[in-house]
Amino acid sequence: MATVRIAACGGYTRRSPLSPGSLAAARMSTEPSSPHHFIRQIVLDDRASGRHDGRVATRFPPEPNGYLHLGHGKSICLNFGLAREFGGTCNLRFDDTNPAKEDLEYVESIKRDVQWLGFAWSELRHASDYFEVFYRCAEKLISDGKAFVCDLSAEEVREFRGTLTQPGRNSPFRERGVEENLDLFRRMRAGEFADGAKTLRAKIDMASGNINLRDPALYRIRHVPHQNTGNAWCIYPMYDYAHCISDAVEGITHSLCTLEFEDHRPLYDWCLDQLDLPNHPELWQPLVDAGLPTRVSRPQQIEFARGNLDHTVMSKRKLMALVQDGLVDGWDDPRMPTLSGARRRGFTPWSIRTFWERAGITKQNSVLEYSVLEGCVREDLDANAARRLAVIDPLKLVITNLADGHEETLIFANHPKNEGFGTREVPFARELWIEREDFMEVPPKGFHRLVPGGEVRLRGVGIVRCEAMLRDAAGAVCEVHCTLDHDTRPGKPGAERKVKGTIHWISARHALAAEVRLYERLFDVADPDDDSDGKTYRDHLNQNSKRVVRAWLEPSLGGVAAGTAFQFERLGFFVADLVDHRTDRPVFNRTVTLRDTWAKKA
Ligand code: ATP
Ligand code: MG
Repeated sequence: MATVRIAACGGYTRRSPLSPGSLAAARMSTEPSSPHHFIRQIVLDDRASGRHDGRVATRFPPEPNGYLHLGHGKSICLNFGLAREFGGTCNLRFDDTNPAKEDLEYVESIKRDVQWLGFAWSELRHASDYFEVFYRCAEKLISDGKAFVCDLSAEEVREFRGTLTQPGRNSPFRERGVEENLDLFRRMRAGEFADGAKTLRAKIDMASGNINLRDPALYRIRHVPHQNTGNAWCIYPMYDYAHCISDAVEGITHSLCTLEFEDHRPLYDWCLDQLDLPNHPELWQPLVDAGLPTRVSRPQQIEFARGNLDHTVMSKRKLMALVQDGLVDGWDDPRMPTLSGARRRGFTPWSIRTFWERAGITKQNSVLEYSVLEGCVREDLDANAARRLAVIDPLKLVITNLADGHEETLIFANHPKNEGFGTREVPFARELWIEREDFMEVPPKGFHRLVPGGEVRLRGVGIVRCEAMLRDAAGAVCEVHCTLDHDTRPGKPGAERKVKGTIHWISARHALAAEVRLYERLFDVADPDDDSDGKTYRDHLNQNSKRVVRAWLEPSLGGVAAGTAFQFERLGFFVADLVDHRTDRPVFNRTVTLRDTWAKKA
């Protein structure tokens, strides 16, 4: 067998593998320098003034009631990123105060996703670690006359609450004495009352312009077992109440949350003002007793705009509905905007981090283009993915002036711009697979690939001329016969002869059969949440978002590990599927095409 060396990839007719992002090769594994934004400025100012003793302690606090989505990635990058930049800490805290909706499967997936994005938490905590602390704090509020047990039903509470324009009315139970409140609250804990029979409410101001301050509920009764605490509790704290105390007992300095919590900040601050946790160690003694490292301080809440992407929905509730109704193949379906779906699709941690860093942190809500995220993954994979040959819609090409048993091994560079990727052997023989769309019997103007009587360069081989075609029973071309101009083989005098097109191929005899999944966007409109036309996001599912084809791969793709990414030359970036790929039954997902083709199609 002859061995021919090819220096690097030649240029192709269309879908050039060279994209603007290729300039990124030099910075392929470096992080973008810390982008400046208002929260970073607050941290810089706080450190300059000595606030929080110059410490930076953040947390990422997901509720384990679903899988994380790309929007959560923004919060993860911000919280962990600031801690990393300033030598601080960032905890992963499961906000597990709502046992009915939470599940260990979600807990595990969240841990995996945070680590996959490239971050390590300082401490892993659960809001449920603090149940005893929340309880003590509630008794303190009651003792101080700042909270009361209320017997109004949920509906009555709503009625009494008032509206944006009308003040609310005091609950008839608001003036209960401290002793009675303490007794009732203890009996709530002891399980004497049914779900919904009573709540513990803060006593703030029913006339406040901020509805969150109109005697908000602090505790509700739920006779539901909890994944961490089992049946120990039948009263569970409300989010606003639990969150600020959790932040304080973890010594969080900057509690970063999304804009919808801006109106909750007065309640966050009210609770912390009443409790003055740093000066009341008896309130958090249970943590010390449990051996949990505890540094208690006064946190500050800062809000930023949620990250939104077009052509998708990013609410756990809606994503959950897609999963439960079987409209996608699970939370990690490669079309899903979940982090686990993005991972399976072949998005890299770098691409997601870089996307959010470039998007920046502001207080203005906006929608980012999905194509920008795709640009980030192209940039990463262009620099970091090895090149391979694959044919996803095969047409047989026979080189009639080669002997039947002809076989050669060609040497191909694994990367056109980075010799460090090395080379590989690619078998070449008389019968090849090419892409069906690289041959046209009646070509449109400007078609530079194979046509009857025309010439094209076979990548790494030389120039072939189409001499004949065979047709199947239906009349469709099923085989093209070509002759190879031996003078144009690499190293031969005619190797530089110009033809307009270069196409890729696979030796039919050596080809590896594979399943290839071609994905497009899950939704076919930019804003699937827009229901002004009476349609919901479910009506906008893109019916062509998944296409499965039988493909032929070059043999070097046998034996690759799940999760390995490649550029299939001219076709796009692909990744061996994390779930279904087997070395003897390869399955590849298309992460992204080589160029943004969506705009053209839409
Ligand atoms: P969803 O509405 O999708 O259920 P959530 O806000 O209820 O999201 P949590 O588990 O409570 O989900 O979120 C954990 C953290 O991630 C919170 O601090 C939340 O503000 C943040 N977060 C959630 N979605 C986004 C987003 N799109 N952009 C930025 N941060 C987000
Ligand atoms: Mg939530």
